[in-house]
Amino acid sequence: MAARTIDALLADGVRGRRVFLRADLNVPLKDGTVGDDTRIRATLPTLRRLLDAGARVLVASHLGRPKGKPDPKYSLAPVAARLGELLGRPVAFTPECVGPEAEAAAAKLRDGDALLLENLRFHAEEEKNEPGFAAALARLADVYVNDAFGTAHRAHASTAGIVPLVARAAAGDLLRGELEQLRRVLEPERPFLCLLGGAKVSDKLAVIEAMAQRADVVGVGGAMAYTFLRAQGKPVGKSLVEPERETDARRVLAAAQAAGHPLLLPVDHVVAQELAAGAPERVVKEIPDGWLGVDIGPETAARFAAEAARARTIFWNGPMGVFEIDAFAKGTEAVARAVAASGAHSVVGGGDSLAAVNKLGLGARISHLSTGGGASLEFVEGRELPGVAALERAR
Ligand code: ADP
Ligand code: MG
Repeated sequence: MAARTIDALLADGVRGRRVFLRADLNVPLKDGTVGDDTRIRATLPTLRRLLDAGARVLVASHLGRPKGKPDPKYSLAPVAARLGELLGRPVAFTPECVGPEAEAAAAKLRDGDALLLENLRFHAEEEKNEPGFAAALARLADVYVNDAFGTAHRAHASTAGIVPLVARAAAGDLLRGELEQLRRVLEPERPFLCLLGGAKVSDKLAVIEAMAQRADVVGVGGAMAYTFLRAQGKPVGKSLVEPERETDARRVLAAAQAAGHPLLLPVDHVVAQELAAGAPERVVKEIPDGWLGVDIGPETAARFAAEAARARTIFWNGPMGVFEIDAFAKGTEAVARAVAASGAHSVVGGGDSLAAVNKLGLGARISHLSTGGGASLEFVEGRELPGVAALERAR
């Protein structure tokens, strides 16, 4: 069954009901204030609709990696302040997410009020999906809404365990929108181009393997490409490689070949003598000893761009080079421009990939910028996301 939507929830009526809204407010903090607030803004539509309908909303999220115990560095208190500013009405903050203090705060809410609970990950039980902790969360509300797409691939107490314990559960508008966009990647209009880059093969091996079967063309750039090139016996100099992944890389190369869509690996490279701005650099076909690959070369970028121009569906995750350094950002930029210019349904995911696209001001020309890097990868790989599965099975 499909997950219940906010529309269905509002049609049932939420006035006076307590709603537990699991959001992804995992924003960067600097000196106790919120840096980039994209994630807070992303969940505002869902929150506003609930509050306007008279719900009493308890917002919950994780922030950072506090290691299962309270750590003031990861307090959500500054996020409550920013959330209130963006919402245009105050958002109370409760320094606990379960127990008597949280329950008392929940009981005091009036129709249309919102409060933010302290970081869920101050309790180790959250990530362990411990049933007692899920029950403690469930006691706070009788309606549950999940809008945290970025953690939907985790079976945690607040994303999975709580769901069967509440009277009603629904997918928020952000989560629903993500799933709609990503389903178009899972059932693509063809040709379907998948572009993968970034630092580590180990992060993305599973998705490359799945895409080698599913996509018409898979282009691989970024540091990941060097492990594949090395697996083919090509010189990679002192490029970033994961030798322990070479066997896997060889298997994926063979499987892609057998499926009739051999991986498109870089045919030229920007190499540098060290990974630093201003380091000597040049474009080569073969990586010389003592040099490292820092970006795809212009011929590779043109090839990827030509594929983007032909594609009807594009999924892109991972920069093509060390884009943080301007001299090594040309490949990522060329790919970003080609994806933006393409008439394809284009989805870009991954924190660094989004940063690269936004830095170039191309965000508005991409069909969908996914707020969940890991979650979007697992979804397009064809895996079930525990947070989504829980909603689909919910009452
Ligand atoms: P995303 O956040 O979009 O999922 P990743 O985190 O997987 O992307 O990868 C982004 C990182 O990969 C960037 O910091 C970038 O500098 C790095 N990277 C890309 N190409 C290379 C390369 N050739 N050598 C070293 N690092 C690279
Ligand atoms: Mg990243």
